[in-house]
Amino acid sequence: MLTDAPLDTKDTPPVKVHHLNCGTMRPPGAPLVCHVLLIETPGSLVLVDSGYGLDDIADPKRRVGPARHFVRPVFDAEETAARQVEKLGFRREDVRHIVLTHFDADHIGGLSDFPWAEVHLTADEALGAVHAPSWRERIRYQSPQWEHRPKLVEHRPDGDQWRGFAAARELDAIAPGIVLLALPGHTRGHAAVAVDAGHRWLLHAGDSFYHHGTLDGHSRVPGSLRGMEALIAYDGKKVRANHDLLADLYRRSDPDLLIVNAHDPALLEKARATA
Ligand SMILES: [Zn+2]
Repeated sequence: MLTDAPLDTKDTPPVKVHHLNCGTMRPPGAPLVCHVLLIETPGSLVLVDSGYGLDDIADPKRRVGPARHFVRPVFDAEETAARQVEKLGFRREDVRHIVLTHFDADHIGGLSDFPWAEVHLTADEALGAVHAPSWRERIRYQSPQWEHRPKLVEHRPDGDQWRGFAAARELDAIAPGIVLLALPGHTRGHAAVAVDAGHRWLLHAGDSFYHHGTLDGHSRVPGSLRGMEALIAYDGKKVRANHDLLADLYRRSDPDLLIVNAHDPALLEKARATA
């Protein structure tokens, strides 16, 4: 049975969440961002996704591959999580954990800037990207981005339920109030990440949708984004089911929940304006 109640979180929830853009992209029709969460917890800093990193900027051909000609990232070092963490007055070494929505190049490029960090992802995503990729997955993912051998910590979100998501796993070894939610479709083991930010929950839905029009039902979703979403989907049927699930959640207008994703600049702005 599904429950509407948020997971109970023990101890203190994360204290502060910063909303970073770690990679402006300029595909035809719609500018995009790489929305990364930087979470201050009592023990460490935690990133949700990592955007593009300094090594991508140094060697985009090898690390990002031909897709860069379509999404056209600006590759600005000042946008990397590494530089933004330092600019906020933290040490890079304080980033101890990185939670990934999935393993695409625009989400994991920053991993090598934090080689000591534990990298949390679903076991299915690790299987499709690293351990046993299909030929399509082998083309999709960029192995030079993980040649530094990040410390992968694989999770199976098969525990509690969370606001309509059937499979959730609270990552309480990192900090209370960080929840990994299985949301496969865009990739084999794609996940969303829910974060208890104290005054509200943030749901970072990764690439499970690209544009807020998918949720609100009235803003026009640019055709180029719709095309890109369909083209790159691991499982198109699941992508559409995820849209329905997230649109339902959006329509409920839970006052203590903000849904964001990885690439919509309007949702990034909204998160910053209401932080
Ligand atoms: Zn992406």
